[in-house]
Amino acid sequence: PRFTGPRTFMRLPHVQTTEEVDVAVVGIPIDDAVSFRSGARFGPEAIRSASVLLRPYNPALKVDVSERLSMVDYGDAPSVPGYHEETLARIQVFLEPLHKAGVTPLCIGGDHSMALGELRAAAKVHGPLALVHLDAHSDVWDSYFGIRYFHGTVFRRAAEEGLIDPGRSVQAGLRGTLYGADDEREPARLGFEALTWEQLKDIPPDEYGERVRARVADSPAFLSFDVDFVDPAFAPGTGTPEVGGPTSGQAMSYLRALTGIDFQGFDCVEVCPPLDPSGTTAYLAANACFEMLSLKALGKRTL
Ligand code: MN
Ligand code: MN
Repeated sequence: PRFTGPRTFMRLPHVQTTEEVDVAVVGIPIDDAVSFRSGARFGPEAIRSASVLLRPYNPALKVDVSERLSMVDYGDAPSVPGYHEETLARIQVFLEPLHKAGVTPLCIGGDHSMALGELRAAAKVHGPLALVHLDAHSDVWDSYFGIRYFHGTVFRRAAEEGLIDPGRSVQAGLRGTLYGADDEREPARLGFEALTWEQLKDIPPDEYGERVRARVADSPAFLSFDVDFVDPAFAPGTGTPEVGGPTSGQAMSYLRALTGIDFQGFDCVEVCPPLDPSGTTAYLAANACFEMLSLKALGKRTL
């Protein structure tokens, strides 16, 4: 039965090896860098629990992920509660060997600040990456309370450090209240293509996929999925919810449209189990991860 056994992602073997591995699922249990409601440090555990229901065949994309990919649950990256910048450094050290060995990490979080550690590791091997970002927030604020490392500043830091190429990146799903009109212009000012949810909802998933492929071209890419992209009616268990977003079904369709991109890293962040009593958000996150695995599996179809 699928509900038995220790809770690894999709019931994969928990092995810290990079040999003959295509994708390593890595938990990043951190929430020191949230600006509002905390608890995402328990996200990896909840996503793993929800993921045991995932079966290997994706009928929407017509691909069997376990047939195409060799996958492991690599365990959790080290973290130091209360010492965020040290945690980011340890995440980077933990993930670098994966990229060097040609393994694609799928990181389950954890607050969104973890992407900085992930991107530092990825860029070291692949160079600057195209960011494909689904989120209610652009996460390009400069600082909070005078501090530069937060979940809402992560992609500004990544751009400053040259880890991502905004000119090849697309953010989508943006909505919610802002501090001022400048906030809305900031992603474009930094060079990102940024679509609000009001804009994205009028673009069918296929067209969104085309648009992202055109922008990313043949760059190595990183897909970052913040569960608050989805309307809080479908994903209530998250720290900074924004109303008026996509349904879980729409979110899956936009993810599935991202075929034909050279993804070298994936993450799914901001699941906050203490705010997710029915586990809905964790199920959504587990399924979003499954769509990412399916995209990677399709990329291997030529083998
Ligand atoms: Mn985010
Ligand atoms: Mn967000």
